[in-house]
Amino acid sequence: MYVDVLTLFPGMFLGPLQESILKRAQERGQLTIVIHQLRDYALDRHQLTDDLPYGGGEGMLLKPEPILRAVETIRGAAEFPVVLLSPQGRLFNQAVTQELAQNARLLLVCGHYEGFDERVRIALQPDEISIGDYVLTGGELPAMVIIDALARWIPGVLGDGESAQQDSFASGLLEGPQYTRPLTYGGIEVPAVLRSGNHAAISHWRRQEALRRTRVRRPELLSKIELSAEERAFLTQLDNLPAD
Ligand code: SAM
Repeated sequence: MYVDVLTLFPGMFLGPLQESILKRAQERGQLTIVIHQLRDYALDRHQLTDDLPYGGGEGMLLKPEPILRAVETIRGAAEFPVVLLSPQGRLFNQAVTQELAQNARLLLVCGHYEGFDERVRIALQPDEISIGDYVLTGGELPAMVIIDALARWIPGVLGDGESAQQDSFASGLLEGPQYTRPLTYGGIEVPAVLRSGNHAAISHWRRQEALRRTRVRRPELLSKIELSAEERAFLTQLDNLPAD
């Protein structure tokens, strides 16, 4: 996958993209991230990228010309989606991640200050994405969040190809409890089923624990997925117990 990022603050990307799984994915050629400096597309003498809002008010707005020039140059003749990072966009979640991961290339446009001149939206008709109902100082951290979440869906990026499928939200449920060594810690022993070597039993236990955890922490997720009769019965049984 190829991800372009347009930002006024390329330095913010230096650390997070050069560590761990994202670093390895880039070294292996599975992920290419190109950071573009927005200021390079401001052609006036002072390379202005922001200006005061018409009508008055706090802060500065990103001007349309440098952004539109940058998008046109980066895209060239190619066709791929532009994602505008915005607290007013559709909320980012696992389903959106999987949807975006279908693209071979994406351009993420980071806002800053008070955001974008409205004509950026009108001209680009971008996919606008918010990473949550709160306001950050810029779109750089949201862009990194999106790149990280996307990278996990690129084939071969994770050590175990199955991991992304088993994580919370992939099946619509939260993942259940997990254990590693030591066998006993703080007086608590790893559940016997996980040591049984019986894959069917382990899988059944994990599904039930995922249902249990989701029911306690995010019960609204249960109404969005298909459950078997046995699973519905299991949940009914849980509903008659106190929450853990
Ligand atoms: N004035 C804007 C508003 O009220 O909608 C907020 C601008 S915010 C201070 C500056 C930039 O940070 C935005 O243009 C956007 O790129 C980014 N940003 C802030 N919060 C975000 C969020 N929750 N999700 C995605 N991007 C966000």
